[in-house]
Amino acid sequence: HFITFEGGEGAGKTTILHTLSNKLQEQGHDVIATREPGGIDISEQIRKIILDPQNTKMEERTEALLYAAARRQHLTEKVLPALEQGKIVLCDRFIDSSLAYQGYARGLGIDEVYAINQFAIKDCMPTLTLFFDIAPKKGLERIASNKDRERNRLDLENLAFHERVYAGYQMLIRKFPNRISTINADQSLEDVERDTLARIDAYLKK
Ligand code: C5P
Ligand code: MG
Repeated sequence: HFITFEGGEGAGKTTILHTLSNKLQEQGHDVIATREPGGIDISEQIRKIILDPQNTKMEERTEALLYAAARRQHLTEKVLPALEQGKIVLCDRFIDSSLAYQGYARGLGIDEVYAINQFAIKDCMPTLTLFFDIAPKKGLERIASNKDRERNRLDLENLAFHERVYAGYQMLIRKFPNRISTINADQSLEDVERDTLARIDAYLKK
């Protein structure tokens, strides 16, 4: 099972992914938790380049290609071997982030970004994607009040950009209704965790 966590900034994806990984392990599942861009050395190195606030000249297509390159290496080195061993893979972001951020919000086009990602993933799509739904303004407010969070190049973007990311995800939900399931992330962490666990339990029983 390849389960991805998606959504805008400050939705709580990372925190919830780690709690869920522990809870599923307690239930006896064999689980790995990983993230994009990153998850393994080469892809973490690419992540540094993409997100470095100093790299203000990063061009949109370059950015999209770097995400796809990081995705390819992470997939072959970590995700696919784990799936072959029958593990549940929980991944913080995957292709839908590229479609929403680079394809829609940066204006490259969802179909074009899908095409370069198809080259990178060769049909290895997630079997379940959870979209953590929070209004962009609220998500950004959560981030602003979190002093421990590392700052990245995206922090230079304005609310309008994050509204476009949100609209991009809404398009993806319409495009992939069977794969993407929405979780209300505008609740306490405990409530979001409870809903997420219920959603994954239901999926695993199918
Ligand atoms: O989710 P995480 O905070 O690790 O993502 C790092 C940053 O990269 C975020 O600001 C996110 O919006 C951005 N990102 C992006 N395009 C992607 C994936 C992530 O702009 N395809
Ligand atoms: Mg995160």
